[in-house]
Amino acid sequence: MDLGTRIFRSLLLSLAGNKLAEKLAAKYGLKRGAQRFIAGRTLDEALARVRELNAQGIGVTLDHLGEGIRLTAEAAVYRDEYIRLVESIRGTNIQATVSLKPTQMGLKLDPENCYANIRDIVAAARSCSNFVTLDMEDTACTAATIGLVRRLRADGLSNVGTVIQAYLYRSEEDVERLTREGVTLRLVKGAYKEPRTLAYPRLTDVDANFLRLIKLRLDSGVYTAIATHDERIIDWTKRYADDCGITVDRFEFQMLYGIRSQSQKQLADEGYTVRCYVPYGRMWYPYFVRRLAERPANVMFIVKNRNRR
Ligand SMILES: Cc1cc2nc3c(=O)[nH]c(=O)nc-3n(C[C@H](O)[C@H](O)[C@H](O)COP(=O)(O)OP(=O)(O)OC[C@H]3O[C@@H](n4cnc5c(N)ncnc54)[C@H](O)[C@@H]3O)c2cc1C
Repeated sequence: MDLGTRIFRSLLLSLAGNKLAEKLAAKYGLKRGAQRFIAGRTLDEALARVRELNAQGIGVTLDHLGEGIRLTAEAAVYRDEYIRLVESIRGTNIQATVSLKPTQMGLKLDPENCYANIRDIVAAARSCSNFVTLDMEDTACTAATIGLVRRLRADGLSNVGTVIQAYLYRSEEDVERLTREGVTLRLVKGAYKEPRTLAYPRLTDVDANFLRLIKLRLDSGVYTAIATHDERIIDWTKRYADDCGITVDRFEFQMLYGIRSQSQKQLADEGYTVRCYVPYGRMWYPYFVRRLAERPANVMFIVKNRNRR
């Protein structure tokens, strides 16, 4: 990545945490550019997209967008919405798990209350035969998020997993420990702005670590989601699984809604389990900005689309 792109990316990621910009975006509504990545503002809109994906043989994980809340009362509202979400999934024939962000449940405000909120959701999901993934946020949340998963499991709730980011130096150790404990994981490159003291600054090192973590997990036999749009990593995984006789029921590929949709369908047609991460809701702004930062060319795409309106 050249210096200009790196500065632009860093600038965009700083904007993701800007509360004023988020408020304006929520008020302004979903514009055509953001619709590429967000399935809608309401659950009904999102469920329509889920049905289309399921019809192509693609599973889904639904994310009711929201993060970095200011009041514990907001966390209670999100908790109740997630409980309603798992109950509505049970009432339909759709194929969808759920993903949530610990800061949306109050991690940074009141960790104990956050635990109680997430425990209620995971318990509701268990009674609906569903699975919850705790998304991984910035490094201020890493240890706490892993701690939440371990505590939930110790409390008898095993239908929960989390995400490990290949850009962090600590991840190999985290993966080894969570693998020993049998925790289902999603592996990703990592989407936040992190200092070089904590995260590999060079993309080639992130990719190399990603492959190390995938190998570790596939060798272990503990169920793993490989969440990436990077064709080289997907091809490497397919080859490695093939060479080692690792069957396709041990892992799945995950991609984001609106990105590489054709590859998602193709992988599903080839017989791999594919899950699309489908975000919806009013608080779409930080998620959207992270998608722009991953690929600054997206900014031009959005600008062109707006001019066409
Ligand atoms: C299902 C899923 C869940 C995730 N959950 C988390 C999480 O909990 N925590 C976290 O930190 N990160 C999460 N991420 C984001 C992840 O960390 C990366 O930022 C993101 O996936 C981009 O990296 P990549 O592996 O696709 O590889 P890249 O090298 O970034 O991209 C490979 C290729 O994919 C395409 N591509 C990638 N991103 C975009 C985009 N935004 N728009 C258009 N094309 C694109 C481009 O063609 C690019 O060349 C998640 C990603 C996925 C797929």
